[in-house]
Amino acid sequence: SEVATMMDVPVTNIISSCMMLGMMVTMNQRLDAETLVIVAEEFNYKVEFIGAEVEESIEEVVDKPEDLISRAPIITVMGHVDHGKTSLLDYIRKANIVDGESGGITQHIGAYSVNVGDEKIAFLDTPGHEAFTAMRARGAQVTDLVIIVAAADDDVMPQTKEAISHAQAAGVPIIFAINKIDKPNANPDNVKTQLSAMNLLIEEWGGSIQSQDISAKTGQGIEELLEKVLLEAEILELKANLNKNAVGTVVEAQLDKGRGYVTTILVQAGTLKIGDYILAGKNSGKVKAMFDDKGRKLNEAGPSTPVSILGLDGAPQAGDKFNVFEDEREAKQIASKRSQLQREQSVRTQKTLTLDEIGRRIALGDFKELNIILKGDVDGSVEALTDSFQKLSTEEIQVNILHKGVGAITESDVLLATASDAIIVGFNVRPQGNARMVADREEVDIRTYSIIYDAINDLKDAMEGMLSPEM
Ligand code: GDP
Repeated sequence: SEVATMMDVPVTNIISSCMMLGMMVTMNQRLDAETLVIVAEEFNYKVEFIGAEVEESIEEVVDKPEDLISRAPIITVMGHVDHGKTSLLDYIRKANIVDGESGGITQHIGAYSVNVGDEKIAFLDTPGHEAFTAMRARGAQVTDLVIIVAAADDDVMPQTKEAISHAQAAGVPIIFAINKIDKPNANPDNVKTQLSAMNLLIEEWGGSIQSQDISAKTGQGIEELLEKVLLEAEILELKANLNKNAVGTVVEAQLDKGRGYVTTILVQAGTLKIGDYILAGKNSGKVKAMFDDKGRKLNEAGPSTPVSILGLDGAPQAGDKFNVFEDEREAKQIASKRSQLQREQSVRTQKTLTLDEIGRRIALGDFKELNIILKGDVDGSVEALTDSFQKLSTEEIQVNILHKGVGAITESDVLLATASDAIIVGFNVRPQGNARMVADREEVDIRTYSIIYDAINDLKDAMEGMLSPEM
């Protein structure tokens, strides 16, 4: 009804235009941003968002170039199960403890930071693309570089391919760590050949992607790997302003019996200090104490530093952003407003894209890219569909196959779709395990086909903005 008043049209008109979008709404319901834009358009209005952020008065400091200093890269390690992600993370953490630091006892707080020569590298300690993509789905882009571990005694496996797709979808550079070269049957060239067949050409073979043969068991090649990480990071020119209130992202949070809520955060810019009031997701509180990953007390933490803090009034979610406030009351107010908003929107309106929605928006002329995740029963059909889908690209709409693979539609596919606004196309395969449930929750459109012609036609219709609703 608020929207109706603003546009000076009867509220029933708004309700019926929502119905046209397949949404049954009441007068008092809040509409999400996307719906607002579409509905307003029908009445020839253009929506301008002054943004929840503005309403929440979270200051965005504009950094002056002279305040920017280089910061350490933040790394996520991904790869196929048992290829050595955990071993690599453990090896790096143990081998890079500088003498002066050894007083501290290693604490697993979800992230850690190591010294390499004079420089630092921060690692997210939860290996795998699930955590990476779950964070991204919440809008957090934390990782600067991805190390993909591929065992030299094995082939490039489905999860290796998945990890590659996830990193590429996020636009994050990849460094390959070809692991287990200590094993007698190790054949790193086999892995490299398979990668090059996927158009991933490593430097050594004349391409542009960094790669290093390593053994997470003996430590061979790991120093070189870290040097390559620093080299790649240098190209990215990672910088942050030290002289402002800290901002960053929650890595994990838990309730500790003796200490209350312990939250691991990654400071991404600014400096976090003891006594700061912070707001993280729907929680707030004063930073009472702060520890690094060796359990040592800190008074402040700068960019690219992972720390665990005490003092929040609850456990925020991984991927939630945090901000520092001058005024504790303000932080509290925003936190409670967010909780309230979430309750109101628990019956959430459509956020992600469906094929029908794509068709509608194409008809309105405001659609540029169509992202697809493609799963099929055999390689042949996947390749055939990839080819046909890509050929559907026009000057106005680019069709991107973000990830393709043989096998059932997994939860990880759904997470990737959520994070990248993609639809999932299954050919002779179905959603597996939790995938269907997560897709329903995240409202990801999964289309399954058993006839190639049907799949292509549906997509074509959608792209021509004339798809009839799925029965
Ligand atoms: P993840 O599932 O990718 O985290 O893999 P893990 O780190 O748990 O490693 C799986 C198995 O491979 C474990 O038994 C490790 O001890 C072993 N492993 C990992 N890296 C190496 C390596 O470089 N050489 C050898 N020989 N074994 C390794």
